[in-house]
Amino acid sequence: MAKTGGGSDAQLMDKLVSLCKRRGFVFQSSEIYGGLNGAWDYGPLGVELLRNVKNSWWNEMTYRSNIEGIDAAILMHPRTWEASGHVENFTDPMVDCRQCKARYRVDVLFDEVSLKKKKEVLRVLYPGTYDGQQKDEFILAEFGRIGEENPAPILIALTCPSCGNKGTFTEARKFNLMFKTFVGPVEDSSAVVYLRPETAQGIFVNFLNVQSASRQKLPFGIAQIGKAFRNEINTKNFLFRTREFEQMEMQFFVKPGTDVEWFEYWREQRFNWFLKLGMPRERLRWHRHEPGKLAHYAKDAYDIEFAFPFGWGEIEGIHNRTDFDLSRHEQFSSKSMKYFDDDTKEKFTPFIIETSAGASRSFMAFLVNAYAEEDAPTAEGTTETRVVMKFHPKLAPMKAAVFPLVNRDGMPELAHKIEETLRPHMRVFYDDSGAVGRRYRRQDEIGTPYCITVDSQTLQDSTVTIRDRDSMVQERIAGDRILSYLNDKIFTVGL
Ligand code: ATP
Repeated sequence: MAKTGGGSDAQLMDKLVSLCKRRGFVFQSSEIYGGLNGAWDYGPLGVELLRNVKNSWWNEMTYRSNIEGIDAAILMHPRTWEASGHVENFTDPMVDCRQCKARYRVDVLFDEVSLKKKKEVLRVLYPGTYDGQQKDEFILAEFGRIGEENPAPILIALTCPSCGNKGTFTEARKFNLMFKTFVGPVEDSSAVVYLRPETAQGIFVNFLNVQSASRQKLPFGIAQIGKAFRNEINTKNFLFRTREFEQMEMQFFVKPGTDVEWFEYWREQRFNWFLKLGMPRERLRWHRHEPGKLAHYAKDAYDIEFAFPFGWGEIEGIHNRTDFDLSRHEQFSSKSMKYFDDDTKEKFTPFIIETSAGASRSFMAFLVNAYAEEDAPTAEGTTETRVVMKFHPKLAPMKAAVFPLVNRDGMPELAHKIEETLRPHMRVFYDDSGAVGRRYRRQDEIGTPYCITVDSQTLQDSTVTIRDRDSMVQERIAGDRILSYLNDKIFTVGL
């Protein structure tokens, strides 16, 4: 009966964006002024969902004896970003169209060129080399390789997707993605600071502070959730690529030589977290970075990708960063970042295994994954389509709704009593307007896992019905069992 998604992928995204606005999950930033690209505001339900994602991550990562949490400042000493390599390397090549002024990231522009056009361009640029019956994968790989090594001739052969003119692109230029600003009143180069493009560096520079304050021994980790900012050239796909977003990062410090084993351990742990929160296995996959394409700091790297309606996209990266980060900070700060092992009396620079997830990207993946359209029975004995957000109960922004069947005979008073009993423990919604069927539909649409109805039988024996969002089955239970019933169903499943 499930018709998950319903319609094309583009329609699904439109439906989600519209549901997010209508029901208060996500609004466009500063909408009344026409909005700001790459920035979004989380509404009353969105902020709950996002908080639940972050809390789940925080509990999963820090309710362990070997992980400590921190909350570092967004603004850091500018040398941090020289040491990290961001000043030099955190760049994307980009081009502008001279005609219409549209700006593109070169790799994104090239990705969007059709296979047919790619073949055509290669054949014109290299006569005789690409004329045979070559495999599509070969053509794609060749186009990618040549595009990276020497994009100029390809750019001349392409038309601008925005205005349709050919050969109007400027030369590719490097564009640093960090937002720059100034500390204090003087806007000169000595006052430059950056909005952090990742939360990781706040962890690295605090490695020894945390280690000595918490008396942790290797291996141990430091976790942090916080905002990060990237001046992305192209923001797109709703919350997928934004300029302001949140990350959930954990850096695990290990003795060199044990890094491969810990890398595998964290890969498994992180993949399982998504599964435990209801992501189906077939919607997730691993993408390993090819050895030749690893970031400058990495020995090995895997992304966890999710099947978004617009294709597979990274939601989390797990990286073996070696001793790069601590060595660089030692070099740039002239302060030792080495660890002294009390047991073996050795002094060394730890290796780091990083798990780096986007909170806002995961939020979007959980939204996409939850969306379903299904046939549901109506009171009149027919069927209608219901939109239901099948969030894992732990993530659901609203945990339960309470309805009086009718607004008389003392039912509202009893229903309010139940609401008050539940409220200190979880988010609850009271609804007494319209037919119960319509109230169910409204809760389905925001993913409330349980709806409690006070009816005429409640007046006689203090029982209520509890309706399950996914099965739509109603159970009758004693009124004094509601809290323990919900606690069992919501907070202990999937652990
Ligand atoms: P991408 O290749 O998609 O730009 P990345 O490889 O640069 O991502 P990382 O630097 O590894 O990403 O960041 C870790 C995580 O932070 C990503 O897996 C993603 O979930 C999140 N993230 C990165 N950039 C953005 C962004 N612009 N908007 C939202 N989330 C982001």
